[in-house]
Amino acid sequence: MPVAKAKVAKTVKLLKSKSRSKPVKTGSRKSGYDPVAPERVKDILNRLDQRYPGVSTALDHKSAWELLIATILSAQCTDAMVNKVTPILFQKYPTPQAMAAASPEELEPILRPTGFYRNKAKSVVGASRGIVERFGGQVPDDMDQLLSLPGVARKTANVVLGTWFRKAVGVVVDTHVHRISRRLELTKADNPKQIEQDLMKVIPQEKWIDYSHQIIYHGRALCVARKPRCAECPLENICHAADKTWSTVEIHKSAQP
Ligand code: SF4
Repeated sequence: MPVAKAKVAKTVKLLKSKSRSKPVKTGSRKSGYDPVAPERVKDILNRLDQRYPGVSTALDHKSAWELLIATILSAQCTDAMVNKVTPILFQKYPTPQAMAAASPEELEPILRPTGFYRNKAKSVVGASRGIVERFGGQVPDDMDQLLSLPGVARKTANVVLGTWFRKAVGVVVDTHVHRISRRLELTKADNPKQIEQDLMKVIPQEKWIDYSHQIIYHGRALCVARKPRCAECPLENICHAADKTWSTVEIHKSAQP
């Protein structure tokens, strides 16, 4: 195609695509707007319930111990990959006792596809040894005891407590909960510890477990990191995130990704 003709075609295409999408509205914060007002938070939670009813972790597991190990392996790795690795892992080491008796080096070839496999091998063997030696082979249902196990931080402990034991001790803050809670202005913090504290203040305790599961689904389906699918989002008309791709409401600079 000649250069001039190609330029015209490109301009027409651009104009057509612009006329199809609604412009993103920008503006200043309305006085009296409170992003963590209980009625707004309730509205967000209700919409998440409707869109993602009954969702839970995507990590395959049959026991608290399997969930603990799978969650440790899920750091910096997709749940789909963890679900490919854990059947092989649990076939060879079916109990905490069997894993505790292994050396981390033996596990490394199996864990390699999940990334950071040397550290993960040390963590899962160390956690299993702790469970066998200090907790009679049972995963404890207590935050402090879970945190005493090697490789177990607050996020992993919250997953096990919330998903397996149905104990709402805290809120799971993974990359999706981190990003979307900020977009929804439920927190301004940028570190997981503070974000969890903020969420525990504004979300009723009986919703802590569901909120994390639903937001993780939302983060995979629509509110993705780059170019969130705002036009399809059930929260669109109450979301003022600065990086919305489509908006019917004013966006706020404070609602950062
Ligand atoms: S409107 Fe967009 S930025 Fe806001 S929650 Fe929905 S997908 Fe995320």
